[in-house]
Amino acid sequence: MTIHPVDEHGEIRALAARVATEIYAPMAEDLDVNRRPIPLAERKRLGDLGFLGIAHPERFGGSGSPLSEALAVIEEFGKVCRPAAFQIFEANTGPAQVINHLGTEEQRERWLPDIIGGDRTMAVAISEPDAGSAATDMRTSAKPIDGGYLLNGTKRWISNGGEADQYLVYARLSDAPGAKGIGALVVDREMPGVGFGPPERLMGFRGIPSADVIFDNVQVPKENVVVPAGDFGRLFGVFSIERLGNSTMSLAIGQAALDRTIKYVEEREQFGKPLIEFQSVQVILADMVLQVEAARLLLQRAAATAGTGLPDPLQVSLAKCTANEMAKRVSDLAMQLHGGNGYTEEYGIERLHRDAHGWAIAGGTPTMQRIRIVSELLGRRFDQRR
Ligand SMILES: Cc1cc2nc3c(=O)[nH]c(=O)nc-3n(C[C@H](O)[C@H](O)[C@H](O)COP(=O)(O)OP(=O)(O)OC[C@H]3O[C@@H](n4cnc5c(N)ncnc54)[C@H](O)[C@@H]3O)c2cc1C
Repeated sequence: MTIHPVDEHGEIRALAARVATEIYAPMAEDLDVNRRPIPLAERKRLGDLGFLGIAHPERFGGSGSPLSEALAVIEEFGKVCRPAAFQIFEANTGPAQVINHLGTEEQRERWLPDIIGGDRTMAVAISEPDAGSAATDMRTSAKPIDGGYLLNGTKRWISNGGEADQYLVYARLSDAPGAKGIGALVVDREMPGVGFGPPERLMGFRGIPSADVIFDNVQVPKENVVVPAGDFGRLFGVFSIERLGNSTMSLAIGQAALDRTIKYVEEREQFGKPLIEFQSVQVILADMVLQVEAARLLLQRAAATAGTGLPDPLQVSLAKCTANEMAKRVSDLAMQLHGGNGYTEEYGIERLHRDAHGWAIAGGTPTMQRIRIVSELLGRRFDQRR
């Protein structure tokens, strides 16, 4: 019995599910326990299979497919190995999409083929110690110098920080206050003056390195400026794609928690019968299905507004808020129905729950999504500083 009679991406989803289950799922626990990313050879394999360029143009080695196809693949990997899914997420929905949508043709040619092939990775560096939800309070600055910019500042919570080869850094490129002074440039990890803090010890996200990225008088050539000061709105327009990737990771967590719980309550017996025979267990399971399906439909609707372009920000915030909160609740209910086994590392349920919390904070918290929902719906801007 399937709840999804029509899946327009059925073929690639099936391929992704097979590769994810056979090759990447067996390494997931080790990556989590030892807090390390997937090996380079496995990232390249994702590139060779075409999974890193699904939503990028064919002329750079991608497939030129709609975003929803990339999301289907991210979901299948996200169910069983989030460190591998992260690579697909980052390449298809992360900073590479800023290059794709806002970069020059020369910049696309310079950076996209390597990302799509799995040879190099690009992380996004927006948050700072004192600028999280209030991203426009960022202080990292790029001052004009001969031939380029001098970059100084510290970025925090950077996923793939210390591991990625390149960073799309949001920084103040002019003295204009607030969002008006912010633009974005690409920094190579080899550039003199680029440093990293110690690896963060996060609750979840353990196969996805995280660290501060520190810029100390880094000379960045002007050819690396992707978005000049004043185009912050366009930058965040493209960030909606990343939020859909994020929502998909949450959906994957919720779906995996649900799938595993169905199997478990059919097998596990107490009081002489399988747990599923108890009506209160059926009710909890139904609640899990309701929440997963609601998130899936909102996500599908948001992704449909994107096609091969940009999604509608209102639809994205509805999807992200719902999916993030669903993943936390559903993985919690899964842990409850697994009893003591849910609390062990062996069953992987606690890992789903730990990761669910991370995806809900990354990319803007559910609270901030709620503010955006009302703002978009009413066509009004609510200044959080006054
Ligand atoms: C796992 C993980 C991965 C991440 N990856 C990246 C990355 O790759 N790149 C990057 O740049 N950043 C990344 N981040 C940072 C992330 O974007 C920020 O953590 C997030 O935006 C929240 O900022 P903050 O942590 O400073 O919390 P704060 O902004 O200090 O918020 C703390 C709490 O206050 C609430 N709050 C804040 N402002 C308001 C308001 N106006 N009204 C009501 N409530 C409010 C928030 O909702 C939250 O509950 C990551 C974070 C995590 C946890």
